[in-house]
Amino acid sequence: MIIRKRTYPIVLKKYEALLRRLPPTFHQISDVEAAFRKQLKGYHGELLVDRQTDRLKDRSTILYNVQLQFRGNSFQMDTIVITTYAVYIIEIKNFDGILTFDTFFDQLIRYNGSKEEGFRSPITQATTQANLLKQWLHKHDYIDIPIYSFIAISRPSTVIKVDGDKNKIRETVMHAEFIPQKISEYERIFKNKDFTPLAHAQIGKIIAEKSMTFDKDILAVHNINKKWILSGVQCSDCNNLKLQRVHGNWHCEPCRKKWRYAHRQAIKDYFLLIQPYITNKTCREFLHVSSRFTANRILQSMNLIFDEKDKLWKLPN
Ligand SMILES: [Zn+2]
Repeated sequence: MIIRKRTYPIVLKKYEALLRRLPPTFHQISDVEAAFRKQLKGYHGELLVDRQTDRLKDRSTILYNVQLQFRGNSFQMDTIVITTYAVYIIEIKNFDGILTFDTFFDQLIRYNGSKEEGFRSPITQATTQANLLKQWLHKHDYIDIPIYSFIAISRPSTVIKVDGDKNKIRETVMHAEFIPQKISEYERIFKNKDFTPLAHAQIGKIIAEKSMTFDKDILAVHNINKKWILSGVQCSDCNNLKLQRVHGNWHCEPCRKKWRYAHRQAIKDYFLLIQPYITNKTCREFLHVSSRFTANRILQSMNLIFDEKDKLWKLPN
């Protein structure tokens, strides 16, 4: 059973909002676009791998995109598959080109057709995650649970090469389509050894309960001041950010279109980029409306929670 689904990442929603609202004169817009495309590619790669791990759902408990806290630090896992015998962590890699795993220097080299680039070994990273999860489970009274990590290469066209110990790499790194088969192989070995079965649904439940959603302050990453973010309600046809509220509709002067709910995206963008709460005043400023009454009606229609004490509107948890 899949008990934690992969959803469209909040970081990608933030990038979309940011790209709608950066001044055209902003000098690093191409960096922001490149970061967005990289994140989006990563997400698509994850979905490709999920199609393979989904095949295990009838006989295991699956969690996607898990982030846990341990001793004040958080650690992330792309996929966790829990079976009757073991916990499997799957780390997804979206590299294109030729990947060379160097077991001597413990590094990964990627050749994309024109240049070589070095990366920290994903195997070391996977081992660290497995250790952290082991300790985390121990803290939650699941002691000595066997944990294995695999690295799934999302695209079948990526070439995997090894410089050094081929067997070591083959045990851990593989194209995504081989993951279900690999897990089945492990399961057969455990079955024959007569291990005590794990309460996999229960273990999955506790991980799901404690798991947080991954988030990132992208304005800080790109050194963007909140003051530079453009306000206003946007026309989804011509991207004009200066829609005007007339008789309950949003009018776009340049393309002469009328929109009923264009404010919804603007309020969502505000929450994503500015702060997780909004007041009547900041709403009026951001949407360019003058009436308190109109701002109130808009906020009331948005499924938000009103904090009576601080007079703030927040997103429901
Ligand atoms: Zn327009």
